[in-house]
Amino acid sequence: MSYKASIYQPNPRWISFYFLYTIFLLNDLFLRHIKYEKVLWKLIKLDLFFIGGKCLHSGNCCRGIMISHKNKPVDNHTTFNALKKKHSEFQRFIPHSEKGTISYFNCACLTKESKCNDYDNRPALCHQYPLSRFLHDHSLERNCGYKIQQRPFYPKIKNERLRILVKQVCELNQLKWNYG
Ligand code: SF4
Ligand code: SF4
Repeated sequence: MSYKASIYQPNPRWISFYFLYTIFLLNDLFLRHIKYEKVLWKLIKLDLFFIGGKCLHSGNCCRGIMISHKNKPVDNHTTFNALKKKHSEFQRFIPHSEKGTISYFNCACLTKESKCNDYDNRPALCHQYPLSRFLHDHSLERNCGYKIQQRPFYPKIKNERLRILVKQVCELNQLKWNYG
């Protein structure tokens, strides 16, 4: 074994996890700032899990979608009309509403063969799937070809707040609980 190969090289994800975990603990103990917690949790999630698999072109992520703008759901026609005026790429979305409240959108660009007929000009929310969905909802579309998987490193998580969040990801994605 060469000298270089014998040097212990920790996985950067491992270092990043413990750094973020420490800040998470400090926030939980002293500040209890929910906005900090949300940001830290998203980063920790990416240290513990990753998105594997591939797109199977089911088109499921283009049906029954909810659109958010500035972190708020676009659930009324006034907001949606203003959004369409400002960003013309949103005109492709067809709202479904009951008593004035939009519950979901379908997309006019989705073909019968479940293909996107305006793929090159698709909006950012389409580009960002599946990562955006994982960060926001902890899991992906049912039957999506992409799958949430665990990174092969399992730190013991003692903090109750973080245990609950990690358990939620494991349960939603039918992953084994390996965190102590
Ligand atoms: S623009 Fe294309 S990728 Fe985006 S929701 Fe519509 S069909 Fe899907
Ligand atoms: S739901 Fe998943 S598999 Fe289906 S089109 Fe979207 S990314 Fe691809």
